[in-house]
Amino acid sequence: MNTPLRLSQEPVSPTIEAAAAHAEDISNAFRDLQIVLPPETIVRRDEPLARRTTLRVGGPADLFIEPSSDNALASALEIAHLRSIPLFLLGRGSNLLVRDGGIRGMVLSLAHPHFSRIELKGQRITAGAGARLKSIAHEARRAGLGGVEFFEGIPGCLGGALRMNAGAMGAWTFDTVEELRCMSPSGQILTLPAQEVPVEYRACPLLRTHIALGAVFRGRPDDAEVIRAKMEQFSKKRWTSQPNQPSAGCTFKNPQPTLPAGRLLDELGLKGARVGDAMVSDVHANFFVNLGQARASDILELIEQVRTRARELRGIELETEVEIVGEDA
Ligand SMILES: Cc1cc2nc3c(=O)[nH]c(=O)nc-3n(C[C@H](O)[C@H](O)[C@H](O)COP(=O)(O)OP(=O)(O)OC[C@H]3O[C@@H](n4cnc5c(N)ncnc54)[C@H](O)[C@@H]3O)c2cc1C
Repeated sequence: MNTPLRLSQEPVSPTIEAAAAHAEDISNAFRDLQIVLPPETIVRRDEPLARRTTLRVGGPADLFIEPSSDNALASALEIAHLRSIPLFLLGRGSNLLVRDGGIRGMVLSLAHPHFSRIELKGQRITAGAGARLKSIAHEARRAGLGGVEFFEGIPGCLGGALRMNAGAMGAWTFDTVEELRCMSPSGQILTLPAQEVPVEYRACPLLRTHIALGAVFRGRPDDAEVIRAKMEQFSKKRWTSQPNQPSAGCTFKNPQPTLPAGRLLDELGLKGARVGDAMVSDVHANFFVNLGQARASDILELIEQVRTRARELRGIELETEVEIVGEDA
């Protein structure tokens, strides 16, 4: 099976024939999925995605699946492969910009409780890919385990954090990961020691082709009160330095280790720049916020304007940290 797990970041303009063939594949896959998958698995067509992302923009997914077990997930992968349907993994949508035309393909979400368990044993924290980062941080605190305090303010789930190697307050997700559990595109389950999983700044390349099912973290024993104080300090830092309007967190990667993208955009006088209801936050310039009625196209236009300014005025090519997926309207 070789169906790519990633959707291209470039929208495609299919011919009428290709669009008709795709629509037929989707209808056939929908029928197959309803026959094969257990009733606990959610299977929907034309599922709106805007409400499933923190930016609150974007069109629908052709197919939306919330598998209720590892087997159901593997079956969905097999059907996508047989019908040549592109796949996309959706976490809590906090690092995503879905274009206004939505996603042509199958969107898989691991939000079912089967994938959201958190278990603590000694210093080991075992969590499913669907577990909220905040819940992992709080469960660890209750057990007197430190090391994942920085998860507290990141609004994603573990699968997204592993794929992004999310980080904050000087720590990265993979710093404390001991073991990664994932599923290959052919539905095989692998358990890998963290040392065998290469990671980079904001990326775990293996998870471009494999689905994270969960991870084991090695917590650091600490006083629960000390951990609580640390989490409170992190949380305070966030609320005073980040906007509270809908956003997808940092829009751009830092162009240089010593030059945060937010500082660059601030120096370029871009705070408050707007396209429709999309705005460069006046609290933190690397956060692009939705003031209410923004469309994905407004945010994309704002991203392009900002990139042009950084290129023209400072010779810096900014790369997005937020992942842009789907088709234009
Ligand atoms: C207010 C705010 C603050 C933020 N602060 C931070 C921060 O401090 N540090 C930071 O790093 N990020 C931050 N982010 C960005 C975001 O929260 C993180 O990148 C988070 O890890 C994304 O998780 P998610 O579940 O929302 O993933 P999504 O946004 O849904 O997906 C992100 C990527 O992960 C992939 N993915 C999701 N689940 C899986 C899976 N099970 N297997 C394989 N791939 C998967 C998706 O396909 C996509 O490529 C912030 C965002 C917001 C809105």
